[in-house]
Amino acid sequence: MLSRPLRRGLAALLFPVVALATPAPITAAPLAPTLAPLPDKLVVLTFDDSSASHHAVARPVLKRHGFGATFFITEGFTFKTNKRDYLTWEQIAELHRDGFEIGNHSRDHLGITEKTVPRLAEQLTAIADRCREHGIPAPVSFAWPGNRFHVSALPVLAAAGIRFARRGGEPEVPYAVGGGVAYEPHVDHPLLIPTTGDARPTWSLDDVKKAVARGGPGKVIVLQFHGVPDGEHPWVNTPRERFEDYMAWLAAEKFTVIAMRDLARYVDPSVAPADPLAVMERRKAAASAR
Ligand SMILES: [Zn+2]
Repeated sequence: MLSRPLRRGLAALLFPVVALATPAPITAAPLAPTLAPLPDKLVVLTFDDSSASHHAVARPVLKRHGFGATFFITEGFTFKTNKRDYLTWEQIAELHRDGFEIGNHSRDHLGITEKTVPRLAEQLTAIADRCREHGIPAPVSFAWPGNRFHVSALPVLAAAGIRFARRGGEPEVPYAVGGGVAYEPHVDHPLLIPTTGDARPTWSLDDVKKAVARGGPGKVIVLQFHGVPDGEHPWVNTPRERFEDYMAWLAAEKFTVIAMRDLARYVDPSVAPADPLAVMERRKAAASAR
């Protein structure tokens, strides 16, 4: 970005040209930053795996509260044949027309390892093509399938036009507990945004409150949901009533709840650390020192 100091290392490699969606105010000085200040109570709300409940249950609840959200779409699992448990593309297009973000979760829910990275570009293109066929723009956000990530995939995501990508709570927090850490913009790599809370069937409102308590000034809460409820992924199921309670609490507490793409109002996606893994190691070291 011209409005910011020259970036080094990976940033230059991964993001040769990146334009922010937020237009510069007319009154701004030519080189002034265009980013809005980070709200204190900011939640990025994400839903994975194309569950039919995202349309039937989440959609009306989110619309009622005026919340944004990203739905990460994959055609993996039994998406093609099982329309009791999975969205149709017409429903996905309706979520887009409602103003929600449609994100990319790879065609086949491809677990990303060093070995599978060569298959990633085609997996991303397949979902982007299906989006365009249904009048949805090509996704600019991605969720790592199964929360598995590998740094060698970062240039592939950037080349596909992905600006923000979400991982799980690992490696800072073990998967089993559904926890995570708050996202620190301009500290975390924008393509390795951590999950702060990963909803599980055992969760109650207290777990949502715990996840949200991991935030603070300069930090963003990133919540990961699957189906609400989820027919085919019972280990990440959230019952409808509890989901409704969680969202009602976020609304009552006056959180700003947005889709992942809308981070671009507050975060420059061209700012990336030279070593994307260093912040994770720092957090692990800090946690074990406590
Ligand atoms: Zn998934």
